[in-house]
Amino acid sequence: MTRHIVTLEGDGIGPEVMTEALGVIAWFNQNMGSRIEAAPGDIGGMSIDKHGVPLSDATLEACRKADAVLLAAVGGPKWDKIDYKIRPEAGLLKLRKELDLFANLRPAKVYDALVDASTLKSSVVKGLDIMIVRELTGGVYFGEPRGIETLPDGQRRGINTQVYTTNEIIRVARVAFELARKRKNRVCSSEKANVMESGKLWREEVTALHQKDYKDVELSHMYADNCAMQLLRNPAQFDVIVTDNLFGDILSDEAAMLTGSLGMLPSASLGALINGKRAALYEPIHGSAPDIAGKGIANPLATIQSVAMMFRYSFDMAREAETLETAIESVLKRGLRTADIMSEGCKKLSTKEMGVALIAELNATLKTAKTA
Ligand code: NAD
Repeated sequence: MTRHIVTLEGDGIGPEVMTEALGVIAWFNQNMGSRIEAAPGDIGGMSIDKHGVPLSDATLEACRKADAVLLAAVGGPKWDKIDYKIRPEAGLLKLRKELDLFANLRPAKVYDALVDASTLKSSVVKGLDIMIVRELTGGVYFGEPRGIETLPDGQRRGINTQVYTTNEIIRVARVAFELARKRKNRVCSSEKANVMESGKLWREEVTALHQKDYKDVELSHMYADNCAMQLLRNPAQFDVIVTDNLFGDILSDEAAMLTGSLGMLPSASLGALINGKRAALYEPIHGSAPDIAGKGIANPLATIQSVAMMFRYSFDMAREAETLETAIESVLKRGLRTADIMSEGCKKLSTKEMGVALIAELNATLKTAKTA
């Protein structure tokens, strides 16, 4: 089956890292029988320059029709003074909203070869492999009423509302349970049921869904403040963590930093399964890195790992995802590094050289498989 994807390279280092990701996709098409057709689209600052808007209707429509979207990064100083509503970042927010991407998946995986990049002791983070599932379209960032009002006594009051419906909780919890089944089969649901009614509802709904459809998955509950502590104390206890928008924002950044390197972290944002198809956006968590854009030194591995996530979660290509992830691990083990993850005794590579090294590793894997 041919899969159609839209690739949005965006700004800054975006085009540099996307080129290497496309090279990897081409390799899988040529060598492992996958049929992925990529059509480029415009987003962010480059789209403002071309079309006057950060996300044109045509690109949005193409993304809607596609089987998945792969994005690199948007933004940069050139567009910093533009009205907030039409800034490069607004294009990305619009895309997430229009595709109703309610589940944000952020893996935090520590590769053995990069264990010293973490600020935590290697004994704590070695072998770490966590998936945080954050609810992305509800909760306190969107709840009404909201605003700042002036009280009769002249004080001002800021208001935000934390609100969740059963459906919003169930659909994101379902994503977490399904993911856990493909991993170590454990879900930890995190909220503040001790002090928030929305947290109490969250816990009740997750528990009921577990009882109904996912009894085979191990479920635990943890208050979000404890979860923040446990992520530093003993992160290896977690497999999948599912949590709301606000707590997920904080916990996923905390978990990401356990790995110590921005250039290595992919993400996925998923929508509902409708008629067998799920809207999906895959992107590295880093931005457009204007400080190194155009220098050819950006790390393409976060974007390439986003491709691995796309294989696994949109295309059911687990074998290909594993092949790609193993090749990345081997390249790192051989001491090949881009500047951001460079350490003593390793060889420093450019963006392009890292792409070439990865393809060479994939070719070697193929050769070994054929002779075995
Ligand atoms: P950033 O992630 O772009 O960069 C932070 C630091 O990490 C920089 O020193 C950068 O050089 C480095 N870095 C990031 N990715 C790297 C990579 N792949 N390889 C090597 N080094 C890498 O964050 P920022 O500097 O706060 O933001 C820059 C621009 O990116 C802003 O316009 C911001 O709005 C935008 N941004 C976009 C996204 C997105 O597209 N999803 C996310 C965050 C920031």
